Amino acid sequence: MSSRDLPSFLLMQNPIQGYDWGSHDSLTTLFGIPNPTGKPQAELWMGAHPNGCSEVTLMGSTQKLSVVIDTAPATALGEATVTRFGSLPFLFKVLCAEKALSIQVHPSKAQAEAGFAKEEAAGIDPKAGNRNYKDPNHKPELVFALTPYQAMNGFRAIPAILALFERVKLAAIADLVAAFVANQNEAGLQHFFHQLLILQGARKEDALAGLLAYAAAHQDEETFALITNLAAQYPGDVGLFSPLLLSVVTLQPGQAMFLDACTPHAYVRGTGLEIMANSDNVLRAGLTPKYIDVAELLDCTRCLPKPDDQILLAPRVEGAVQHFDVPVPDFTFSVYPAGEHQLTTASAEILFAIDGTVTLKQGDEMLRLEKGQSAFVPAATGHYQLLAEGRVARAGNRC
Ligand SMILES: [Zn+2]
Repeated sequence: MSSRDLPSFLLMQNPIQGYDWGSHDSLTTLFGIPNPTGKPQAELWMGAHPNGCSEVTLMGSTQKLSVVIDTAPATALGEATVTRFGSLPFLFKVLCAEKALSIQVHPSKAQAEAGFAKEEAAGIDPKAGNRNYKDPNHKPELVFALTPYQAMNGFRAIPAILALFERVKLAAIADLVAAFVANQNEAGLQHFFHQLLILQGARKEDALAGLLAYAAAHQDEETFALITNLAAQYPGDVGLFSPLLLSVVTLQPGQAMFLDACTPHAYVRGTGLEIMANSDNVLRAGLTPKYIDVAELLDCTRCLPKPDDQILLAPRVEGAVQHFDVPVPDFTFSVYPAGEHQLTTASAEILFAIDGTVTLKQGDEMLRLEKGQSAFVPAATGHYQLLAEGRVARAGNRC
């Protein structure tokens, strides 16, 4: 150990969340992480979040990363991050979806601050089913595909949405489509989306039955195959309309996507790295048995189409290094190829060995990571050397 109060590199032990949409074998197949219980392994969390904190070994004893950070915050995070964020501002995950996650929207920072304050003032229990805002933070996310990764991200162009609904021709909601045709703008899309979300009873059943019949006859198209797949997982859910409203995309391994505030999105199937701001604020919009607060959801949804060329996030390439730049300071994310790299910390970092052994060195300190392992690098580490036999993902933050 150096003269500083933390070592340069800390090997992390990471908790695995067993949500029921998780994959049974992806962590084992990709990283050799065992699954002794045979239950779903949905998300491996790397960070200091209270709902699943990584552990590190420090001077022979195992401790929570959050505790280690709190004992030496300026060393672990850097003064500027401590001042601005107060804690590690990001959470880094391996996400393994075998079944679709709910369609969701995350609030902007201002909406989260206002919503959190309102629910606190109203005395709504933080664990209550009708609690929307768990914290006052926004939750921008970036996902980097490790396998083909199917998702929905943002509204389609309005003419594309209308063309799909006109093809499907659902008599039960013909009036809603006609109203949207007459009002092809943000307000028209918001009204249409709202009316679909609150469909009930026979009208909803008729519309969904028509949708599923059409989908069954058009399985060669990704959108309709997806609707059939989702119907088996979430029968009777209004979210089954979402593939007609939202862009359906399958990221190829190595491609990435940024999920901005106020943009509806869903992860359908695949394994990827995900990094996000340290927040739990999720407003659900379908494909869920959980509470949907339609009014709050509409307040937080920007009903503007996301242009096709903005669905994927192209990296800024520096040599053979890929930097996936995002418009928020809460996290940074880069992927380094096999080889030798000279790096310098600008914040706390988490390094994840994607597909080979990685050696980290600084002076006489050294840490070796096997594929699937990760290290916490305190902000005070400064200059270090990375020797990689495969790709390495590097997460940090700006201030
Ligand atoms: Zn999300």
